[in-house]
Amino acid sequence: MKLQELIDDGKRQMRLCNACRYCEGYCAVWRAIEWRRDFTPNDMAYLANLCHDCRECYFACPFTPPHEFGINPPKLFNGLRDELYHQYAWPGPLAKALGGKQSSVWTVVVLTIVFTVVLALSSNTEALWQKHVGPGAFYHVMSEFAMIGLFGFLGIWMLFGWVIGAVRFWRDIKSPNSERVTFQDVKTAISYAMSLRYLGGEGAGCKEPGYEMSRSRRMFHHLIFYGFLLDFASTTLAAFYSHVLKVPAPYPLYHPVVILGALGGIGLIIGITGFLYVKNKSDQSLSDPSATKSGNAFSVSLLVIAVTGMLLLAVRETVAMGIMLMIHLGSVAALFFVAPYSKFAHFVYRFLALVRYAQEERVHAEPVHQDKSPKQPALLHGMPVSK
Ligand code: SF4
Ligand code: SF4
Repeated sequence: MKLQELIDDGKRQMRLCNACRYCEGYCAVWRAIEWRRDFTPNDMAYLANLCHDCRECYFACPFTPPHEFGINPPKLFNGLRDELYHQYAWPGPLAKALGGKQSSVWTVVVLTIVFTVVLALSSNTEALWQKHVGPGAFYHVMSEFAMIGLFGFLGIWMLFGWVIGAVRFWRDIKSPNSERVTFQDVKTAISYAMSLRYLGGEGAGCKEPGYEMSRSRRMFHHLIFYGFLLDFASTTLAAFYSHVLKVPAPYPLYHPVVILGALGGIGLIIGITGFLYVKNKSDQSLSDPSATKSGNAFSVSLLVIAVTGMLLLAVRETVAMGIMLMIHLGSVAALFFVAPYSKFAHFVYRFLALVRYAQEERVHAEPVHQDKSPKQPALLHGMPVSK
């Protein structure tokens, strides 16, 4: 379904849900719905990113397909999120080409191969097939200057894309009454995000294969999230050792850089494998096919980075180090390149939706609550939509 159709169907479903309100205790989405009398396209963008896809509401609902009301919030929000990542990303045409319907595991594979070949060709091709040991061994294959230049550029590209998407999204979902965001709102949103509170159906877990409540998806997502943070900490520490203390990689096995990186890599491999298994075994009628494809592509790209990182650690004192380094760096470069357009960007939008939710929660908890129903125009990042 196109964005316009999803928004129209979303408004229809949310109006029915607002009359029913059976799911009001399940997650933040349902409270945010109750605070509204009707739904603008911007509200739909906000609600879609507030949903963590636990699916509890779907299994509680008596109006799911084949009922004529056709209520299916997880699928609706799943499809909306996928379309919105491309709507908010910059530059638009590249977002459509790299993150659109074509986005799949094959996009990741092709980009990884392209980056690996380019890196290998621009490296010291003779040194690529030789054994290198000791401090600075990686720089014998690819110069420090080239490595910093390439990943510095891709890092700025990724951050720039995320910031533009975040500004556009916040402009659409922010309080129409210019309500200010407090430090406490941000703190609350961070605690919701770090605990993945709404990926647990408020404690009971998610509906999984066999339709039983399970906390496995939340646990796997935690492993991915904290595994990624450990790897990020390892890379940052390595940069500090290399450029400030002038002690270049590789480091011994007991070094904090290696310990953090290995723990992060193991967390990512277990988390992503489990997450992919649970997601793809679950009822696919609750997911948007295009969103499933791009979600799988992101998971696989992270998995390739984690596996090649661990393999690099295993073979770093052999002749295979050079080529493994190129494959690992190629997969990291591919992920950075598509980051603003891929599922990778979901944490940006989800976090901002949680900040807006924490703000609304605070305002509605105030003793004398004025009517602060949103009064946004029917626009979604400049795109006119029907009422
Ligand atoms: S999802 Fe179904 S049960 Fe829940 S509020 Fe909507 S209509 Fe009611
Ligand atoms: S988080 Fe769960 S309960 Fe809330 S809207 Fe999404 S699927 Fe439904």
